[in-house]
Amino acid sequence: MPNKAIALVTGGAGFIGSHMVDLLIEEGCEVRVIDNLSGGREENLAHHHSNAVTLEHRDIRQIMPGDAVFQGVDYVFHFAGLGDIVPSIERPLEYMSANVQGTVQMLECARFAGVSKFVYAASSSCYGLADVPTREDHLIAPQYPYALSKYQGEQACFHWHRVYGLPVNSIRIFNAYGIRSRTSGAYGAVFGVFLKQKLARKPFTVVGDGAQSRDFLYASDVADAFYLAAMTNRAGEIYNLGAGNPQTIKYLVELLNGPVVYLPKRPGEPMCTWANTSKIQAHLGWAPKVSFEEGVKRVVANIDYWQKAPLWNPDSIAGATKTWFDMLEGA
Ligand code: UDP
Repeated sequence: MPNKAIALVTGGAGFIGSHMVDLLIEEGCEVRVIDNLSGGREENLAHHHSNAVTLEHRDIRQIMPGDAVFQGVDYVFHFAGLGDIVPSIERPLEYMSANVQGTVQMLECARFAGVSKFVYAASSSCYGLADVPTREDHLIAPQYPYALSKYQGEQACFHWHRVYGLPVNSIRIFNAYGIRSRTSGAYGAVFGVFLKQKLARKPFTVVGDGAQSRDFLYASDVADAFYLAAMTNRAGEIYNLGAGNPQTIKYLVELLNGPVVYLPKRPGEPMCTWANTSKIQAHLGWAPKVSFEEGVKRVVANIDYWQKAPLWNPDSIAGATKTWFDMLEGA
């Protein structure tokens, strides 16, 4: 990246966004963050000097083309949006608004600013129950509004690419984990759930028999991929992003080390997620740097961060996932 390039990170106070900010600062960029702090935390950026990163506490849907925050911006990394499955089933309008309309708003601002690249944080959930290892040309089958909204946001990106020539790349993230993963809000994201249980010396709530696996990727490796997707001359590309090396929940429990309680399997949940990463390796020269064992070590070393996370147990999980079971059972 040319020195003093200006990068804008939406959702930059959140989990993956804050790792993106770290990398951009390391690369010598001026970094601007837009975050409404609904899921993000200001303290996720506190380790940066106040003049290195500017935080605009605003909602992306309220920012219009021509806004000063976009002035002179070279690269946009779009992470802002709503996550989690269950609340998306309960409140689909909020998800479509934040994740689709919010993305459209950022695309239009980026077009107006004439940015060099817009990199979209897409979700592997667009594939539904996918064949593995999953390639980018796999059938699209979103199973719940969160997945649909992220996919439609991606469609909007490519529409802006085709119609307006906006240089866009999209990265479909599999299971990202790492320090600063979100501690607020709904039940979900196994790392947050287990780390809080470990802190509270309560049993890990393992779904099924724990033999299911996920393609976990450490957050700084995710940021590396986004950086390369911004720097490349390529545009209009979709990249799957995971470690390409799925890990079972059983193994995670073994690494975290503690007692276990078992929960019923969830409807519509894949046994395995696994990204085929050939394309991103070939196009961008990306490769993961942090092994699963090393990544787990890092989160455990920072476990106090999850003090603020909600503590889940089998009863509260049954309540929180009721909508999920009701809506998706037999779907
Ligand atoms: N999981 C679990 N206990 C929990 C939460 C999740 O065993 O309390 C498992 C879940 O079955 C899945 C994996 O952890 O196999 C990842 O779940 P998460 O919700 O983080 O991601 P997703 O299922 O959307 O990939």
